[in-house]
Amino acid sequence: MNELLFRSTDQRFGFRISSDAVDHMASLCRKAKRSETGGILAGRYSERHDCAIVTEVTGPPPDSRGGPTWFKRGVRGLQQLIERLWRLDRSFYLGEWHYHPYGSPGPSTTDTKQMSLISTSDSYSCPEPILLILGGDPNAELEIRVFVFQRGASYLELPRLIE
Ligand SMILES: [Zn+2]
Repeated sequence: MNELLFRSTDQRFGFRISSDAVDHMASLCRKAKRSETGGILAGRYSERHDCAIVTEVTGPPPDSRGGPTWFKRGVRGLQQLIERLWRLDRSFYLGEWHYHPYGSPGPSTTDTKQMSLISTSDSYSCPEPILLILGGDPNAELEIRVFVFQRGASYLELPRLIE
C-alpha cells in the first residue's frame, strides 16, 4: 500500500496516510465542485506515540455547510461514527481535513481558531489534533499540507517526506 509520510522538522510529530485515503478525499473534493468540503481523520498512534496513522477518512456529516471560502463541519452522526470506529479496530479521532478549492492549502485564521478550540475541548479528548488541508484543482494533482495543533501552543507544520 502506498503511503504519504509527513514529519515535523524536530522529528517529534509524524503523520501517515494511505494514497487510497487521499484519493477518497480528492473524489469528495471533485464532488463538492467549488465549495469547501471536509471531514474527520481517524486512526491511531504508532507504538512509540510519535506518529499518527490514519485508518479512516470520513466525508462531511450531513449537517455540514460550505461555500467557496468557508466550511463548517457538521456534527450529526459523528459521535456514533467515532464509537463505531473504536469498536471496529480501536481507531479514534485524530483531527480534521478540508479542502480549499482552487486555493492554497494554508490554514486561515478561522481554521487555526477552530483547531485550537478542538485541542482544548473535552468532548474531543484530543490535545494534539491534526489538520490536513488540500488545495488546488481536484481534477489535477491536489496540494496537501499537514499541521498539528498543540494545546496551549502555536501550530506546527509537518512537511511531507519524499522517499
Ligand atoms: Zn480552511
